[in-house]
Amino acid sequence: MSASTAPRRPGPTPTPVSQPFWDAAAAGTLTLQHCGRCDAVVFYPRHRCPRCWAEALAWRPASGRGTVATYTVVHKPGHPAFAPDTPYVVALIDLAEGPRMLSAVVGCEPGQVRIGMPVRVRFTAGADHPLPLFEPEEEP
Ligand SMILES: [Zn+2]
Repeated sequence: MSASTAPRRPGPTPTPVSQPFWDAAAAGTLTLQHCGRCDAVVFYPRHRCPRCWAEALAWRPASGRGTVATYTVVHKPGHPAFAPDTPYVVALIDLAEGPRMLSAVVGCEPGQVRIGMPVRVRFTAGADHPLPLFEPEEEP
């Protein structure tokens, strides 16, 4: 399939609450909300802290590091635009700050992904909406 006939990839739909997350992503930074009352780290983006109900949530840069909590290898995508990427890995990432994020693991073969594997964020390049994906953390 040529690029001109390939279906357009669906992307996120920013809301007033999530717009700061996507603005930071466009600048290559992963951000999370922090509660000014109870210090909870919050993801996904919300109006109120899910722990203490305060509205005092502020955006802060995150480390971009985490570990693979679980994953699956996708062979048949849910949207035809992702067919060229198959097989790919959809994973739940336990971020170093605490929240769990649904994303994908890139930069390695699907068979190399393991539960507990250290990963770091890498944003998609050249996309309308850069997405936070994760790649294996290099061994120290
Ligand atoms: Zn709170």
